[in-house]
Amino acid sequence: MSDYMFDVVVIGSGPGGYVAAIRAAQLGLKTCIVEKYPSLGGTCLNVGCIPSKALLESSELFAVARDKMADHGVVLGAEPGLDLAAMQARKARIVTELTDGVAGLMKKNKIQMIRGHGSLLDAHTVKVAGDEKQDTVTAANVILASGSKAVELPFLPFDDERVVNSTGALAFEEVPARLAVIGAGAVGLELGSVWRRLGAEVTVVEMLPQITPFADRQLAKALQRSLKGQGVDIRLKTRVTGAEVDEGGVTLTLEKDKAKEPESLRCDRVLVAVGRRPYHEGMGLEAAGVELEDGGRVKVDGHLRTSLPGVYAIGDLVRGPMLAHKAEDEGVAVAERIAGKPGHVNYDAIPSIVYTEPELASVGLSEEAAKASKVKYKVGRFLFRANGRAKALGAEEGMVKILADAKTDRLLGVHMVGARASEMIAEAVVAMEFGGSAEDLARSVHAHPTLSEIVKEAAMAVDGRSIHS
Ligand code: FAD
Repeated sequence: MSDYMFDVVVIGSGPGGYVAAIRAAQLGLKTCIVEKYPSLGGTCLNVGCIPSKALLESSELFAVARDKMADHGVVLGAEPGLDLAAMQARKARIVTELTDGVAGLMKKNKIQMIRGHGSLLDAHTVKVAGDEKQDTVTAANVILASGSKAVELPFLPFDDERVVNSTGALAFEEVPARLAVIGAGAVGLELGSVWRRLGAEVTVVEMLPQITPFADRQLAKALQRSLKGQGVDIRLKTRVTGAEVDEGGVTLTLEKDKAKEPESLRCDRVLVAVGRRPYHEGMGLEAAGVELEDGGRVKVDGHLRTSLPGVYAIGDLVRGPMLAHKAEDEGVAVAERIAGKPGHVNYDAIPSIVYTEPELASVGLSEEAAKASKVKYKVGRFLFRANGRAKALGAEEGMVKILADAKTDRLLGVHMVGARASEMIAEAVVAMEFGGSAEDLARSVHAHPTLSEIVKEAAMAVDGRSIHS
């Protein structure tokens, strides 16, 4: 392709970077990947999606054994015991298998791996500062995929002991007696759930009026009720305005109403889960000519090109939801564009999921967003408790809600709270990707008995003709 050492150099091996590298290599581009962390896979594999799901599954099994088996007629005898070290070891094993798997994929695709911190000298030159030596790599194209870092509260710095971010909360060696979680987004609710199931008293403090602020309000409220039923204390419209950390724990100052005296909340540990910020420290982006936008994200155009020709940026580093699958699809799109193909991401059909129990999954417009966009819409809803499979599973909590354009019936948004919603949402994503309608979902045969029938029934309900309600 050129006189450069590589066609593509990728900085960062998270789901954005490693997927971009593989797709570039598949398309015949000579590719290298720069990663400063000892293992590949980024936040997602090492300290994000995967370890959190491992602990969610283990803690859910523990809670099921403790609270739900008797209902199925399964008698376990003594109270189930918790071997947290074994649970954490299982999590670590899964992480290692996957991160080693990514290293294997790099080898298989003949992608050169360079360990060290990458920074941009100009549009085609990346300096890599490793433990022992420095390399300079040249490439026709650079893909920035350095991800994000947890946001710290100015009055409550992380100390990895009492005050932790998600990485710390994934690694507790004992169950905290009282855990405070600041922020009721996906990370706060998932990790709050893990420790609640294992016995912690969990208080979630959120300054906004609803949990999972971007979700459809009706479903967010349904999830909130379920979590409350599990003993998670959720304080909405409440701001943490101060904190004192001492030997024994942390005292947070909570303000709900400016007219009233602030309250205090005592806990043993605090998980600060107030969001993540793009990470590009020491990468020399601005000096090289890469423009940033508000909030520090790298500014990109519709094809993920930065302001510096030849340099692209993807994943958490750029606008849009900070999600692994969004990063992956952007990685594929950029690699394909570099190879002269029409790579593309449909930002209107990116699912987002909260892996609590029940799970919350959605794609497209929430009812509030549909209202704000002034589009005329119809709504269909169907409850889990009217579905045979949900009853057999003992998973009767929840609902699927479908919004369709009132005139064309085209799907605008699909939202679900309930068991296995994370898997069921895929059907809605595919339907939306194909420009499908509620009628398309309603007319497709869904196996019986499955939870997916709830989606079909909700689609029929859009037209007022669900069968089982
Ligand atoms: P990252 O995964 O952050 O990877 C960036 C990589 O770049 C890192 O390996 C870093 O070491 C490396 N790097 C940074 N700077 C340099 C440099 N200068 N030189 C060399 N290397 C560098 N998303 C989901 O979709 N589903 C989930 O269930 C989910 N769960 C999550 C749970 C938690 C607890 C957290 C924290 C996040 C979760 N996420 C989830 C979000 C998801 O992890 C991120 O959206 C995703 O990892 C972003 O991918 P990325 O490739 O943009 O960056």
